[in-house]
Amino acid sequence: MKIVMLGAPGAGKGTQARLISEKYGIPQISTGDIFRANIRDNTELGQRAKSYMDQGLLVPDQVTCDLVVDRIRRDDCAGGYILDGFPRTIPQAQALTKALSDHGSRIDYAIDVEVPDDNIVQRMSGRRACPKCGATFHIRYKMPQTEGVCDTCGSELIQREDDHAQTVQKRLDVYHSQTQPLIQYYREQGVLHTVDGTREMNTVFNDICAALEES
Ligand code: AMP
Repeated sequence: MKIVMLGAPGAGKGTQARLISEKYGIPQISTGDIFRANIRDNTELGQRAKSYMDQGLLVPDQVTCDLVVDRIRRDDCAGGYILDGFPRTIPQAQALTKALSDHGSRIDYAIDVEVPDDNIVQRMSGRRACPKCGATFHIRYKMPQTEGVCDTCGSELIQREDDHAQTVQKRLDVYHSQTQPLIQYYREQGVLHTVDGTREMNTVFNDICAALEES
């Protein structure tokens, strides 16, 4: 089962991808998480990605595609995977289609988690992250046990540079101009399923499972 998660930044696709990963036992591959881990480890890739991410811009396609194509060829991806945050542009989707078709394979499901922009802005500006272990929280919807402190590792939580209100707006502009066209791309491939992402997490998840199990 090869799945692509679509949706604006902050739509909850990462959370849903994690739930799918746990239920179906396939890896979740999040390009955002891979970039953030590289920034934490101060790798060359991390240094390159950070300058784009902090401005709300996309990391160049070539860098991102090489990373993903390399990752999906690993053994743990043999039974399928969920791509969370990739592809984000038509050239990335085309590169993925090509990499898969070279091996006689294709994406089976593209799940679009739909959430209006004003809702996204509210969600993202309340997000807090742990700079050490990467866990995420929300000042209203997913509060840590102690305010400002990571439940997992006890570090002080921060607001990610790319979650600041101005950057969120930029990321939404980038989403509409570069990523939203992927909805039509996967619709044309006959694999698109749209779910209403404004509802409670488990309700959204049940809809996704129904789509994965019915088709
Ligand atoms: P995310 O955590 O998925 O919202 O990603 C955070 C940031 O990482 C994005 O705003 C981009 O700067 C970068 N990024 C993640 N995935 C991609 C991708 N597929 N293509 C380009 N940039 C990406």
